[in-house]
Amino acid sequence: MAHNHRQPEVNIGLVGHVDHGKTTLVRALSGEWTDQHSEEMKRGISIRLGYADATLRKCPECEEPEAFTVDETCDEHDVETDVLRTVSFVDAPGHETLMATMLAGASLMDGAVLVVSANESVPQPQTEEHLMALDIIGIENVVIAQNKVDLVDAETARENYEQIQEFVEGTVAEGAPIVPVSAEQEINIDLIIDALEETIPTPERDPEADPEMFVARSFDINKPGTKWDGLKGGVVGGSLVEGELEAGDDLEIRPGREVEEEGETEWRPVETSVRSLQAGGEMVDSVSPGGLLGVGTGLDPSLTKGDALAGQVAGHPGTLPPVWNDFTMEVDLLDRLVGAEEGEEVEEISTGEPLMLTVGTATTVGAVTSARTGECEVQLKRPVCAREGAKIAINRRVGARWRLIGIGTLSG
Ligand code: GDP
Ligand code: MG
Repeated sequence: MAHNHRQPEVNIGLVGHVDHGKTTLVRALSGEWTDQHSEEMKRGISIRLGYADATLRKCPECEEPEAFTVDETCDEHDVETDVLRTVSFVDAPGHETLMATMLAGASLMDGAVLVVSANESVPQPQTEEHLMALDIIGIENVVIAQNKVDLVDAETARENYEQIQEFVEGTVAEGAPIVPVSAEQEINIDLIIDALEETIPTPERDPEADPEMFVARSFDINKPGTKWDGLKGGVVGGSLVEGELEAGDDLEIRPGREVEEEGETEWRPVETSVRSLQAGGEMVDSVSPGGLLGVGTGLDPSLTKGDALAGQVAGHPGTLPPVWNDFTMEVDLLDRLVGAEEGEEVEEISTGEPLMLTVGTATTVGAVTSARTGECEVQLKRPVCAREGAKIAINRRVGARWRLIGIGTLSG
């Protein structure tokens, strides 16, 4: 297959505590600022998952690791640099109430960069919570960026480094490279690229698999007041987790839309076709997994407006996973609440309690209808489309916020 270098081939999540420098690091690697949403700018946090693509390169003349760069030319040798690959960074928010968004993003990550600030003690609450999420979701390819080394002396940097090492013991990040960087001063960006190349390889993809797209956003791209004959169809955005999607393909989206008939409501899949495809910032004829993908459809834009289809799954008609209004899940609870000052224990799930569940990019509230040891049944407020065996992040309301208490496996 002819490879278009502009289309990202792997998704790398940026996780870690708020203000530790995730967005700044993405900017250093991609030249893009992911906090684009105006509300985000105002609040200074990434409310929506921000994607930014970066083409990683290598100077054919320089020694390693100095050879690794994002620049198209090497000033020292006056040569063009070679393209290694294009990666897509998924900049997850660090704000504590936004764990669900982070988890939704985690389902799309092939690997992650855990950003830890060198000038604060380890771990800060979301450093721990996000690492735990990577751990239970099973994201094993992790690079740790020890950021803001420009703010500390060598001794503090060394102590902080050791704290990080100790903290990740026994998790997916055990043994992960810890790279001291300054995202803001762009120091050691070459070492980060080297670590990304070594530690987060592009996964093997099966091009013959049925395409499966996790929808993360959906939009109505028409200006208000557009006449019907000028209306463009609804757009869905997200990532392919498997297979290839081509312009012209028939498309089914599940669970679809809620319809009311004679006082009964039910969810019906919607069917349309792929009118246009956008990936890596350009229009393409086909896409494979990696990066953010925009699909122009023939759907009535009122169906896609305002993220109405976020959390759903798209693919060829008849090939998608089943839709569940209720399911049974095996449950693995954390030993204690993550990020709590004192290690509060996690109590067993009880019948009747509401849980917030994240499955793929879908987040829904489920009422526990039957709780047994290591297993429970839930009735969902909104149905989800997922395969048996899918991992589910389980959150419980503790005080004013939802807290991650464990991981479920959809069992039927
Ligand atoms: P995020 O919440 O993890 O995305 O953090 P940001 O990237 O928004 O960074 C938070 C603040 O830390 C901003 O004011 C950045 O300018 C600053 N910052 C980020 N990286 C560095 C660094 O390497 N050195 C210093 N001195 N400041 C940094
Ligand atoms: Mg940020």
